[in-house]
Amino acid sequence: MKEQYDVLIAGCGVAGLFLAMHLPEQMQVLLLTKSSDEEESDSFLAQGGICMLKNEADFDSYFADTMRAGHYENDPDAVTTMIRSSQTIIRELVACGVDFAREADGSFSFTREGAHSTPRILHHEDCTGREITKNLMRKVKTLPNVTLCTETMLLDLLCAQGRCCGGVLLQKGGKPFPVLARDTVLATGGVGGVYENSTNFPHLTGDGVALALRHGVEVENVDYVQIHPTTLYSKRPGRRFLISESVRGEGAVLLDKHGNRFTDELLPRDRLTAEIHKQMQKDHTPFVWLSMRTIDCDVKKRFPTICARCEEEGIHVPEDLVPVVPAQHYFMGGVKVNLDSRTSLPHLYAVGETACNGVHGANRLASNSLLENLVFAERAAAAIVKTDSAFCPAEYQPARYRSPESWQAENRQLVKDEILHEKEQRSKTS
Ligand SMILES: Cc1cc2nc3c(=O)[nH]c(=O)nc-3n(C[C@H](O)[C@H](O)[C@H](O)COP(=O)(O)OP(=O)(O)OC[C@H]3O[C@@H](n4cnc5c(N)ncnc54)[C@H](O)[C@@H]3O)c2cc1C
Repeated sequence: MKEQYDVLIAGCGVAGLFLAMHLPEQMQVLLLTKSSDEEESDSFLAQGGICMLKNEADFDSYFADTMRAGHYENDPDAVTTMIRSSQTIIRELVACGVDFAREADGSFSFTREGAHSTPRILHHEDCTGREITKNLMRKVKTLPNVTLCTETMLLDLLCAQGRCCGGVLLQKGGKPFPVLARDTVLATGGVGGVYENSTNFPHLTGDGVALALRHGVEVENVDYVQIHPTTLYSKRPGRRFLISESVRGEGAVLLDKHGNRFTDELLPRDRLTAEIHKQMQKDHTPFVWLSMRTIDCDVKKRFPTICARCEEEGIHVPEDLVPVVPAQHYFMGGVKVNLDSRTSLPHLYAVGETACNGVHGANRLASNSLLENLVFAERAAAAIVKTDSAFCPAEYQPARYRSPESWQAENRQLVKDEILHEKEQRSKTS
């Protein structure tokens, strides 16, 4: 590893990878992942799919669905930018080798999820995130200007003269060290790791948000945390397995303990979660049932990953009912950015789930996040390229990191406290 790079990107999920891919070859890029396995990011877990504007006639309805799901707290410009960029992004993904499901005539096959008024979601079986991210990863690995480092975390930001100058990194078993960068990008994913029950990888602990808080960089809507209504109920500890919304989009129904339907399965996520919690309380059960018997296609072919995971728990779908329970899933808030993904600190950008650009408002519409991540990562790359950046030396203070473990624990606590604090503030003002 060198002492300085043009661009330092913390996080190699779809957001970090797509940004790296869109930087010119003359820029030296350092791309980090905290994990020992570069595939351990939420991007690899995305099941349902990625939205695309089908045609001009679909614009108003797609826009309205996104705004309604977000309780009209979304930024209309950000939503428009995302929707208008979607066809270009999908073309780029296909050019990268991403294989989306197609109809017999070769046209895209669209599926539907909760709160979408029409099918507009592209998918690859039930492992769309894996298909997209592995293709982006393959492409990035061919780029001579990008160095990908596993087990290397961004521990802190280096700041001087009112700007970001790079980061302090920590490699497994080593000591913290500084790396200068003209521009630094937070692409550290969501906050699921600070929750007991989450669909996210546990190492995703909102580090980007914590570092923003430490350095007085603006954050927004940090209390907007989405709970997914249907994760597989299990007594085993660890990450909660998601039963994608597209299962309900294809016709699966929710049942109470007597086997009766109790709600509209395609309500927006927050409202469906409330309905499920209400039913669990009424039934005195730790879960409700999901029936896939009502799905009108070959369930094993359409949802192979979900079927395989249910089998591991001894549940044979579609014949058996699946116990499901809500769990933390997605982070709508984050480090506040503009439409170019710039934060309030010069030369610091934030992309992906770490960032809050206003697309999702108070609640994310299903399958909008992969798209949002890609659109605004590409915009960040364009902004970095057109901004004249110089290196800026910053004083490195090793004493701050005497105990990297307690530093990280403090980061997690900062994120938890901020979520609670913003929640309290909001309930006072509403
Ligand atoms: C189970 C599941 C299913 C989903 N299904 C869908 C779907 O169908 N459609 C959809 O649109 N969205 C879906 N999502 C959401 C979507 O997958 C995520 O929002 C998206 O992948 C986030 O991408 P990202 O690049 O921001 O972060 P991630 O992909 O989570 O990557 C974060 C990266 O940051 C690294 N990192 C974290 N902290 C540090 C640090 N301090 N230093 C260095 N590296 C660090 C991690 O190691 C990782 O490489 C789903 C999410 C989950 C969990």
